[in-house]
Amino acid sequence: MNIRFCEKCERETEHTEAIKQKPSKYGKSKKEQFKAFLDGFFSGAAASLPGGASLELTDRYVVCLKCGKQTLENHGTEFQ
Ligand SMILES: [Zn+2]
Repeated sequence: MNIRFCEKCERETEHTEAIKQKPSKYGKSKKEQFKAFLDGFFSGAAASLPGGASLELTDRYVVCLKCGKQTLENHGTEFQ
């Protein structure tokens, strides 16, 4: 669990991390995007990237657990 400032909540909240592979095999609808998010979250949390996939092919997000705001976070080392 990560505590960081959420712009939407305007305070520090708990965040979780999600990794999405791109391009997405999922559709563009919100439902499909949510599935992609969950898929990316669990695969990213449970295992390393398959076959040592390049980090350039993934987008890394942090997600506010209070409001669900997703922030693209590709800089990499803040949570390491
Ligand atoms: Zn928030």
